[in-house]
Amino acid sequence: MIDFDIDPEFQEQIDWVERFTKEEIEPLDNFMRAGRTKDGNPIDRDGWRAIRAYIEDLKQQVKDQGLWGFHLGPDLGGPGLGQVKLCLLNEKLGKTRMGPGIFGCQAPDTGNMELIAHNGTEEQKKKYLEPLLSGEKHSAYSMTEPHAGEPGEFICSAKRDGDEWVINGEKWFTSNGAGADFLIVMAVTNPDAPLLERASMFIVDRQTPGVEVVRNVHTYGTPLRENYNVRGGGGHAYIRYSDVRVPAANLLGTEGAGFVGSQTRLSGGRVHHAMRAVGVCTKALDMMCERALSRKSKGELLSNLQMVQQDIADSYIQLKQFRLHVLYTAWLIDKTGAYTQEIRKEIAAIKITAAKVNHDIIYRAIHLHGALGMSNETPLGDMWMSAPQMGIMDGATEAHKSNLAKLLLRDYDACEDLFPTYHFPKLIEEAQDKFERVIDDYLAA
Ligand SMILES: Cc1cc2nc3c(=O)[nH]c(=O)nc-3n(C[C@H](O)[C@H](O)[C@H](O)COP(=O)(O)OP(=O)(O)OC[C@H]3O[C@@H](n4cnc5c(N)ncnc54)[C@H](O)[C@@H]3O)c2cc1C
Repeated sequence: MIDFDIDPEFQEQIDWVERFTKEEIEPLDNFMRAGRTKDGNPIDRDGWRAIRAYIEDLKQQVKDQGLWGFHLGPDLGGPGLGQVKLCLLNEKLGKTRMGPGIFGCQAPDTGNMELIAHNGTEEQKKKYLEPLLSGEKHSAYSMTEPHAGEPGEFICSAKRDGDEWVINGEKWFTSNGAGADFLIVMAVTNPDAPLLERASMFIVDRQTPGVEVVRNVHTYGTPLRENYNVRGGGGHAYIRYSDVRVPAANLLGTEGAGFVGSQTRLSGGRVHHAMRAVGVCTKALDMMCERALSRKSKGELLSNLQMVQQDIADSYIQLKQFRLHVLYTAWLIDKTGAYTQEIRKEIAAIKITAAKVNHDIIYRAIHLHGALGMSNETPLGDMWMSAPQMGIMDGATEAHKSNLAKLLLRDYDACEDLFPTYHFPKLIEEAQDKFERVIDDYLAA
């Protein structure tokens, strides 16, 4: 049975989120973009205090609605909605910048919560997970290295010394690393072991001696000088770990299980990222349609031009197909309750498609807006940034394609014959044998 209906009670929640993001979060996003009052003055200290209090109030409204940390199961104080419902909520939040933070489901904290929940000891859960869940503390995930993003190339190491581990090496693009209270660091603990047993994860308090933010690297659009503000929030920190000592109790999961454990944080997260991409692309398509109906060229509305119509139609089709694929993947996860091979195939596929759909639809939207689309006065610039990003973060598209192909090929066998199983001459010969018998039997009867 296939049913695309959403139960009315949950639809009310979605409607509330849609209203709340439109009326509260989007204006906040826009106010933060300008960072000044209408008379052109920058916001002063008291002004920022008021804005922070306002944000806390918004978080409280989300909590009252029972949607704080909505990605979490009831064991962690969340509503335990399941992946399909999570997707439908993430689709709405994808249209905002500050939405995920206000709903307590912001990366990289979300993935780190899952990591500690699945792999952490009771002590680690109390010390690190609980304040993460309440939004009191923030975290970062430090895995990629400056010389390589592929785990087999990692060299940042952790060596056991009595009751401590000593970490040495460099990590790069640790999102929120400069502002985090603690970091989850992937380090090689046994370089001679097979790849999947080579590394372990450690929880490292950001203030531990030897943790140095070399630069707080930002993506395009932020002035380069911000990279040297190593105490700033946001950004993707370049971090050097020099003789960083952490207690043995800070090993997260078992020794050597780092790479396998890290999959806990990525699988569900990729589905949510994909659904936020649906939200972003829906907004881009809405903008395209409004613009096409409002702008003229040679006395004709853009919406009457066939090539513009083609761009709108292509975008709609791509978006609809992608949305259904993401929801199907979420439904499979809900049904199966585990990240099986079947589900890993779909997750790889939507991770790959997210980058392509973002790229195609946002590019068309920018193009249709002409010079305005190239300006920093619409959301299109931010959206455009997300397109190449989607194809790189959490692993390059090519790596996922290669992985997907390998998973698909497992379901097939090679043909031993000279010609393939679907070669007409062979199939016709088999069919002739069968139908000659049918004819003989019929005539003999
Ligand atoms: C916005 C953003 C946030 C990020 N946040 C974090 C974070 O919080 N923590 C963290 O640890 N990392 C983070 N990263 C890093 C991210 O995980 C890596 O960028 C990603 O794994 C790719 O590694 P790389 O950048 O070293 O690229 P490389 O591995 O050098 O790949 C570069 C290119 O080489 C080609 N290539 C690579 N592998 C293959 C392959 N198997 N087959 C064919 N071609 C291939 C592809 O064209 C690929 O794009 C973030 C990245 C971005 C963009």
